Amino acid sequence: MLATAAASSREILTRLQEVMAARTPAQAKLNAVVTIIGEALHSEVCSIYLLREGALELFATRGLREEAVHVTRLALGEGLVGRIAQDLSVLNLDEAAAHPDFAYKPETGEEFFHSFAGVPIVRRERAIGVLCVQHAEPRAYPDIEIEALQTVAMVVAELIAGAGLVDEATARSPTFRDTGPLRLAGQKLVEGMAAGEAVFHQPRVTVEFTVAEDTEAERARVYSAFRKMREGIDRMTRDAEFGAGGEHQEVLETYKMFAYDEGWSRRINEAIDSGLTAEAAIERVQQRTRSRMREIDDPLLKERMHDLEDLSNRLLRIVSGQLGTAAQLGLKRDTILIARNLGPAELLEYDRRRLKGVVLEEGSLTAHVTIVARAMGVPVLGRVRDVRRLINEGDRLLLDLPEGAVYVRPTPAIEEAFCSKLALSQRRRAELAQLRGLPPVTKDGRRVGLMVNAGLLDDVAALDATGADGIGLFRTEFQFLVAAELPRRESQQRLYRSVLEAAGDRPVVFRTVDIGGDKALPYLDHEVVEDNPAMGWRALRLALERDGLLKGQARALIEASAGRVLRVMFPMISEPWEFDQARAIIEAQRAWVHEHKRTGPTEVHYGAMLEVPALAETLDLILPKLQFLSIGTNDLTQFLFAADRSHPKLAERYDWLSPAILRFLARVVRECRAANVPVGVCGEMGGRTVEAMALIGLGVERLSITPAAVAPVRAMIRSLDAAACAEEVAKLLASPPPDMRGALTRWGEANGVALG
Ligand code: PEP
Ligand code: MG
Repeated sequence: MLATAAASSREILTRLQEVMAARTPAQAKLNAVVTIIGEALHSEVCSIYLLREGALELFATRGLREEAVHVTRLALGEGLVGRIAQDLSVLNLDEAAAHPDFAYKPETGEEFFHSFAGVPIVRRERAIGVLCVQHAEPRAYPDIEIEALQTVAMVVAELIAGAGLVDEATARSPTFRDTGPLRLAGQKLVEGMAAGEAVFHQPRVTVEFTVAEDTEAERARVYSAFRKMREGIDRMTRDAEFGAGGEHQEVLETYKMFAYDEGWSRRINEAIDSGLTAEAAIERVQQRTRSRMREIDDPLLKERMHDLEDLSNRLLRIVSGQLGTAAQLGLKRDTILIARNLGPAELLEYDRRRLKGVVLEEGSLTAHVTIVARAMGVPVLGRVRDVRRLINEGDRLLLDLPEGAVYVRPTPAIEEAFCSKLALSQRRRAELAQLRGLPPVTKDGRRVGLMVNAGLLDDVAALDATGADGIGLFRTEFQFLVAAELPRRESQQRLYRSVLEAAGDRPVVFRTVDIGGDKALPYLDHEVVEDNPAMGWRALRLALERDGLLKGQARALIEASAGRVLRVMFPMISEPWEFDQARAIIEAQRAWVHEHKRTGPTEVHYGAMLEVPALAETLDLILPKLQFLSIGTNDLTQFLFAADRSHPKLAERYDWLSPAILRFLARVVRECRAANVPVGVCGEMGGRTVEAMALIGLGVERLSITPAAVAPVRAMIRSLDAAACAEEVAKLLASPPPDMRGALTRWGEANGVALG
């Protein structure tokens, strides 16, 4: 019987470490391990099964027949051993044969043994084998012995990995299938193709050394990590940004509760007492929590357990000194980034030269992270289920957006096919780029304004690369998103001036800051915690209230456009008075500059964004005040359908080509034309060929789109008969078919429209 004292467990670990350090073949090491454990537990049988080529193979045993070694194999899920590995569960049975999963293997001679206890050998959260003991007499194993087995299994995992007994791929994957190539499908968020190495946004720490040399030193490391972690959490909780009450507060309070949980730190301490290193002790306790979590049915409690998992990773990263996101650690090779989700600012932290693509477990087409990635030219595949479990850090990945898939660990044949497809798409892109100089005029002579959306100075280069008419939407908040603090007026002005200079005589439409929603700034105090930030304190609402913000930006815009035309528009206008106020703030700055004998803009053209449906009902009141109207279909459609634009489950539910949206847009365009106010679309919708065709059919005069879409949309425009399209769209809208997208696509194809 294993003694209850930690000292005894330490003794086993010390003996195991001697085995690990010995210069003997791996098989001899495993044989020694089963002997040590068997002796310590006074058990007749101790065996180790390892995952090899998709099956659990008996690698070493003390007590079963020698002939069975490397002969007895169990599939994942087969028998007790297979069940343990598949479910990452522990089995503790006084009568093994009575268990429904029991599979008798005659070559082992195990019929003499009644009781059975087994634990998974885990590496990187996956089972790579099973460690089990058996006794002749029927007995249930006390918790303390199961605990000891689990601790020993951690050390055995290190031994196995170190001895190269399982290849790295097997060590990283739960099943044989997952070591081989995989194809994971997702939602196309940003088009493109890319190859690279999988890097996790939040790197996971792999515990390399499990047995402590100096227990007290390990304890000190854990204490200091706990202190740092708690300080960090206290800081976050104190941070005014979160205000009082609400969801954030609750999450943080839970964090805090766990961070200070004496039970948690005590268990880690006990694990250290048993001879583990600080990292191994944290991991060991976390394994135990994970296995409890698997048995819990309560979703609320499970959610809380995720918090603990998060916290445990944080502690592990502090103790091992591996802090920060992958962006902060720096990308070393061509990278495909893996994350559950990302904020736009987090994405912007990455080195653009190395970041080749992104795979997200969540994500949606019009979330701002997607828009930023599109602006960066980084393909994004979203809504890939279980991606963080199925892909391993360092895996080779091929991101194929045209197919809406990512190839994981591709075979040479897949790699070859991918390369030729990539070459083909590059050729096609080069061909399209040659159209750059040709005007976007329809076959029947309608000139469509084709502009690009931008947000950073680098994006301005897209003007030359695409031959676009100008910048139809400059998202000024991007500068705020990449900064660590509110950008000063001077730096705003510098950016605007550089953009205008780079654009030359091509127009640039600046949109005043659209902060809030999914573009929250950590350094800006939001005062209240919002349940619905997209419908909350954002954009012009926030800017008007903090008039220092809009005032500063107004001055920066006025000064930057000295001697030129300033084009400015306001986001999220819901009622005309908001426009009036915003315009008054710009005009006041213009007057100030004038009074102080400084050069201001030659003219100011004011525009409004139509994103809130309510504004459509008061167009007659606002249009006379406008030089242009720009429809932001990203927000507009989320409000029309009452469907959160960044909600992963709603990402594909409603189509931009639905009759509701098209009819709504048709009405707005009609009113604008009647009022003689130019109308454009600057949402993501306009960057897709079929949608762009429909918009032109509705009478939209200008599209402002992501740079990568300019070439295909230009080709589409040049192949389109706008009058015929208008006729078809009117017909379809009068009596909409069930599949509007299908009907429009078929019409386009039948009429020779280049839909790509
Ligand atoms: C929109 O809402 O369509 C838009 C262009 O603005 P943003 O995507 O920045 O919210
Ligand atoms: Mg918007």
